[in-house]
Amino acid sequence: MTSPNFAGLGLPDILLHALTAHKFTIPTPIQVDAIPPLLKGRDLLGIAQTGSGKTAAFALPILTHLLAEPRRPGPFQTRALVLAPTRELALQIDEAIRAFGAGSRVRTVVIIGGASRFRQCEAMRRGADIVVGTPGRVRDLMNTRELSIATAERFVLDEADRMLDLGFIKDIRHIVSALPSRRQSCLFSATMPAEIASLAASLLRDPVRVEIARVEATAPKIAQSVRFVTSSGKQALLAELLSEPDFKRVLVFTRTKHGANKVAERLEATGVQVDAIHGNKSQPQRERALRDFRTGRARVLVATDIAARGIDVTGVSHVINFDLPAEPESYVHRIGRTARAGAEGIAIAFCDPAERSTLRQIEKLMGEKIPVVGDIPAETYQSRPQSPQNRRGGPGRWQSRPSGQRGMRSAA
Ligand code: AMP
Repeated sequence: MTSPNFAGLGLPDILLHALTAHKFTIPTPIQVDAIPPLLKGRDLLGIAQTGSGKTAAFALPILTHLLAEPRRPGPFQTRALVLAPTRELALQIDEAIRAFGAGSRVRTVVIIGGASRFRQCEAMRRGADIVVGTPGRVRDLMNTRELSIATAERFVLDEADRMLDLGFIKDIRHIVSALPSRRQSCLFSATMPAEIASLAASLLRDPVRVEIARVEATAPKIAQSVRFVTSSGKQALLAELLSEPDFKRVLVFTRTKHGANKVAERLEATGVQVDAIHGNKSQPQRERALRDFRTGRARVLVATDIAARGIDVTGVSHVINFDLPAEPESYVHRIGRTARAGAEGIAIAFCDPAERSTLRQIEKLMGEKIPVVGDIPAETYQSRPQSPQNRRGGPGRWQSRPSGQRGMRSAA
């Protein structure tokens, strides 16, 4: 059996050249399944997460359509609207569209919070073939009539479940109500909670459903482990891990913005090149932090869940969950930042006594136990008297525990 290639999917030559230039030779499964129906004008429901190649899956058909029917949009109008939950993801999508559309005259405008509203309005004066934006700012510009989506022929809602988590559903329903009824729509989501299923039902007409790598399935190349540690011992454990040269490009997740700042400041004080990224940082700060992390100027990036999805940084050697996420699904997204593009990755979770039940939920979601590495501090077993077995592990702190001993963790 020959593997599919992009030419076989029906894309025009100009896009095929751009794909070759970017070393996209073999389409990913979602591209194989989604591109042909989208080229035929069908709506699409994609159950897929970042890393699956979904950006190209929706962007290439939009570009194909715009190239086949070149028409200048009127002032403040757009011919296609792509909504993403975070500014970073919107910028990434824009970057991908520009790369694929290089050599064409397709004009994209990014409309996101934290960046100059004035410049975005100025850019919209000439109209846009494609607007990529986040819901809040898009709605804002629609309200002041500096963006009209009444003529948008294509609509993409990316990472819909994340939109729900971030409280954007009302904005989205408002935006969707301003779209023309004759349009093509795609909705992508990693999970399908009831609210997203109902949004999809109201948004899509007879959609093709494409499901790739459900959220429960973690990438097989991620070596996961958990370290039991007291809450006050986490920072020292992190510093100790970072003293290992193997920890080349490390993404550290904390639960709160304040926590992210604190961890970053303490690391910086020990001479580690580190930056923090979270919702309280300005857009230029967030972009600089990502750029420095991508280029290796910062070895460590401390982030809240804002960076758990959508951020595409290749070569992340380690993801460290300094705090376990409140939502078990977020764990899967967080660790998915490593082992991208076929590389191998390591994910280490710190678990303090208060996080034990969260860890169990994560393991339940993934249907597997995460191997325990290192010491188990006595404090993590407060609710159970110390037995010699509980304390097993002693000085061999860096050794992985045989699976038969892992059950201890659920005892507390
Ligand atoms: P996405 O899920 O769209 O964020 O894509 C994840 C990563 O995979 C990005 O770095 C893309 O550039 C890359 N990618 C997507 N499709 C392909 C492909 N067919 N060949 C090579 N790389 C790809």
